[in-house]
Amino acid sequence: MELLLATGNPHKREEFARIFRGHRLLLPADRGVRFDHEETGASFLENALGKARALRALLSRSDAEGMPILADDSGLAVAALGGEPGVYSARYGRQERGRDLSDGERNLFLLERMAALEDRRACFVCALVLLLDENRIYAAQETLPGLVGREPRGEGGFGYDPLLVLPHRGRTVAQLTPEEKDLLSHRGKAARAILAVVEHHLSGRTA
Ligand code: IMP
Repeated sequence: MELLLATGNPHKREEFARIFRGHRLLLPADRGVRFDHEETGASFLENALGKARALRALLSRSDAEGMPILADDSGLAVAALGGEPGVYSARYGRQERGRDLSDGERNLFLLERMAALEDRRACFVCALVLLLDENRIYAAQETLPGLVGREPRGEGGFGYDPLLVLPHRGRTVAQLTPEEKDLLSHRGKAARAILAVVEHHLSGRTA
């Protein structure tokens, strides 16, 4: 089945593509559509649904009109910071530093904010929405819990992966293989739930 993925993040596309193997995940750009959505919602789910709806509106009267859309929003929620950076994960530190930070700078920014905190509990969250038409919507939201380490460790993955330590593995998410991350991750779990919907309910409608 062909699905349009409402993201510009190549890491996320790679992770989704591994799980949706056997299906074709296209980006809006693959269909000649420029999609750059401002996230303004107060929750991951609100943002994912907003992204999906905005892309659907943009596609009306284009070649891709009516294609099923997959949209996600994700981030890191730190318990002792009241869920921060949360929906601001991608923009964290921008206001304080007056510019967008790189992944590495953002990790150091978060470590500074947490320097005095003993409670290191946090989780990655991924909300994933499958929009079939205006009134047919499936959603899944999943987590990957862990502890924020005292320094970045590992070279794999992206974003905050070098900070989140999985205590039962004694490694950060950045120290997992891609396959290990898929199995355990917030994105992997949400994607498999939506994949089950795609395969069980929709495959018969596809070419
Ligand atoms: P968005 O979902 O595109 O708004 O971006 C969410 C931000 O959260 C990313 O830019 C990363 O900083 C962070 N994030 C989301 N998922 C992950 C993950 O799997 N690993 C590390 N960081 C993540």
